[in-house]
Amino acid sequence: MPGIDVLPAACAVPDQGPLSQRQYPEPDHPYRTPFQRDAGRILHSRAFRRLAGKTQVFTERASDHFRSRLTHTLEVTQIARTVARALGLNEDLTEALALAHDIGHPPFGHAGERALDEVLQRYGLRFDHNLHALRIVEYFENRHLEFRGLNLTLAVREGIIKHSRDYSAAEHPELAEYFLSQPPPLEAQIIDWADEIAYLTADLDDGVEAEILTVQEIRRGVTLVERHLAPLQAEHPAAPEKLLFQESLKRMLNALVDDLIAETARQAKGVANLEEVRGVQHRLAAFSREMEQLRRQAKEFLYQNLYLCDDLRRGHQRAAAVIGDLFALWMADPCRLPPSYAEQAAREGAPRVIADYIAGMTDHFILELHRSEGKAAVPDRN
Ligand code: MG
Repeated sequence: MPGIDVLPAACAVPDQGPLSQRQYPEPDHPYRTPFQRDAGRILHSRAFRRLAGKTQVFTERASDHFRSRLTHTLEVTQIARTVARALGLNEDLTEALALAHDIGHPPFGHAGERALDEVLQRYGLRFDHNLHALRIVEYFENRHLEFRGLNLTLAVREGIIKHSRDYSAAEHPELAEYFLSQPPPLEAQIIDWADEIAYLTADLDDGVEAEILTVQEIRRGVTLVERHLAPLQAEHPAAPEKLLFQESLKRMLNALVDDLIAETARQAKGVANLEEVRGVQHRLAAFSREMEQLRRQAKEFLYQNLYLCDDLRRGHQRAAAVIGDLFALWMADPCRLPPSYAEQAAREGAPRVIADYIAGMTDHFILELHRSEGKAAVPDRN
């Protein structure tokens, strides 16, 4: 990429080394890298397929054009691979991490995550989608004869829990093997920003499609759109507003990606290898100061005008009620759970097992279950 210094090759996670080790040792594949195999395992998992039925933002309004968590994940993967390639990072590892980044999300988007966390807190537990994703790949996906879970490499498991936040070793002794005192490799660091680039642009798009936002409001509130739209309109005065808006969103996305690549390369100047990436003590993947301000402005606009609008709030309240009702029903009578979960609840405690069961559901499945609860047997999802 012109003007961008690709990082030294030693900054990328190597295909062979401690980070490509698996919990249960397996022979190398003759022509696929360990991280390519991980990406394949995630892509072929049941949890990945369920992303098609999970909300990204809109729980109530149906449109074939809104992003689901699956299409969002594919957009994040495309962006993350672009950034990884431009910086000279490990693309296969980046792809695996991007494909996995949302598989721990429960139904109803962030409203569902909040609702599950609230009910679990009454029992001294928490719900966290990163940790849930780790449980999915370690325990709940069962497709292999020789081991439980997907037996992913250490780099992918570390990236799954660390792509969007850090965990303290004191609070999470069970995560000790994941280098909690160090930032993750750059491949994991860029996932969070690729996620943000994907949803900022997509949510503006879907917000207009849902007729909650107007292009005029966005032009007034989001500089990253207006700075492209105004000159485009001057150049193409007869072009329909919707098309000018789409072209501007595309340019906004490109500007964010360009900035992320350039600023991350700048921040990593002088960093020679992966040990030094981990030794910096803060994350090197970043936007420039100017772009960071513009990103915050766009995000704030979306909070004020979309995520917290009455229409979405009603959907969130309904989501919380559905999750709360089913959780209470099964806590009161765990025998109503599917047999495999009922047995597990007796062994491991009902709250966590019920939360795991709910977290795996799609929006459609949990709504159906909520409608039929009390009237029909609860189907087994295992
Ligand atoms: Mg995401």
